[in-house]
Amino acid sequence: MSNDPPLLEIRNLEKYFEESSNVLDVLMRREPSQIQAVDDVSLTLEENDSAAVIGESGCGKTTLLLTLIGLHDATGGDIYYKGQPVSEFDKSDWREYRSNVQVIFQDPFNSLDPKMTVAESLKEPLKIHGIGDRDRRVREVLEHVELSPPEKYLGRKPANLSGGEKQRVSIGRALVLEPDVILADEPVSMLDVSTQAAVLNTMKNLIDEFGVSMLYISHDLSTVSYISEVVNVMYLGRVVESAPTEQILADPKHPYTEALVSAIPVPDPHYNRERTEMSGAPRDPVDLGEGCRFRDRCPAVIPPDDLEIPQAAYREVIAFRERLARDDLTLDRVRAELDDSTDTDALAAALREEYFDHDLMGENDAVLDTALSALAAGDGDRAGDLLRGRFESVCEQTPADVTTDDEWTVACHYYDDDTQIEEKRVPTTD
Ligand code: SF4
Repeated sequence: MSNDPPLLEIRNLEKYFEESSNVLDVLMRREPSQIQAVDDVSLTLEENDSAAVIGESGCGKTTLLLTLIGLHDATGGDIYYKGQPVSEFDKSDWREYRSNVQVIFQDPFNSLDPKMTVAESLKEPLKIHGIGDRDRRVREVLEHVELSPPEKYLGRKPANLSGGEKQRVSIGRALVLEPDVILADEPVSMLDVSTQAAVLNTMKNLIDEFGVSMLYISHDLSTVSYISEVVNVMYLGRVVESAPTEQILADPKHPYTEALVSAIPVPDPHYNRERTEMSGAPRDPVDLGEGCRFRDRCPAVIPPDDLEIPQAAYREVIAFRERLARDDLTLDRVRAELDDSTDTDALAAALREEYFDHDLMGENDAVLDTALSALAAGDGDRAGDLLRGRFESVCEQTPADVTTDDEWTVACHYYDDDTQIEEKRVPTTD
């Protein structure tokens, strides 16, 4: 095994943004809210390697990419290129890094200058970096991205190219400097499905033929098997599961990954895959605090040991407590719909109807009713305390990463006491 440092290594990277304060915040001396767009993310890209970062829109994957190319300063952690931390780069290190680490952006329709021909677009990065022999390089690169013969494309402008051809030119622009690393941000999401497969195949060939390494960033888990040997699944700023692609697709461990995998379309109309349902959308990323960030959507959120409650009902309680804690309940609207807005019993009943579809069973129901009555009477703190006392989950503490020998890492309390995560599956049904 080589003792060389990895080509690109991200260690405990953080990128936090502060929300701008308004006048009232300043007068009240309130701390500005914080968005943890990237939080404690670590991953490694070796030479001739390919890895993916997958997650829904807003999970922080694009912020990660912009931090990687120096358009955001990291709040914490560091990025290492060939063993050297980018935080210690001088001007000439940045120049070398920017030549060796190239980006393919999502939108082929906007990433090319409409006034430039294909030849001019491809020569531009060579000019910027003072590299000669441009005509030969440009022709070669067009062949590699399967725009052949080159003469057919050299004089065309983007308006005269299809979406797939534009994206191939964008890939060519990234490739013409012969980089070590390509960061590909949703490179096929704006192309039609048949073109997606062809462009992904071209990218895969480039990894194999040129020995270039690729970090593939996408919301679409179904495309990663074309490109990546390893998948990192990101949720609200954190990597929640990381494993070799084949294994993660065949046997996802984290409930969020399981839901993503179960949503991949299956080409066989006779095969009916059971879908793992997540409830709701990701929460507002402001001030996320302690705990598993997926807990208000998780189909397997863990109740206290001694609590007997159906999983679906428990999820509703968890989601309700989250909204209560974040002052995100639609209390005023529910009250406004009552015949008598001062009737607290009616308000408690209406809240129950608004937020709960399932029977919580026995004493759980009684505690919920008492809490809703307290809330309806204006005592949100007591409601919160009552609900926490009965329903507090281990998932309200941040889960640690558990890693197996075969480099499978998952952050979920379901695996807290069990490093043999190969053997274990999260129960996701009631
Ligand atoms: S820690 Fe809890 S809420 Fe988070 S994914 Fe695991 S079971 Fe679900």
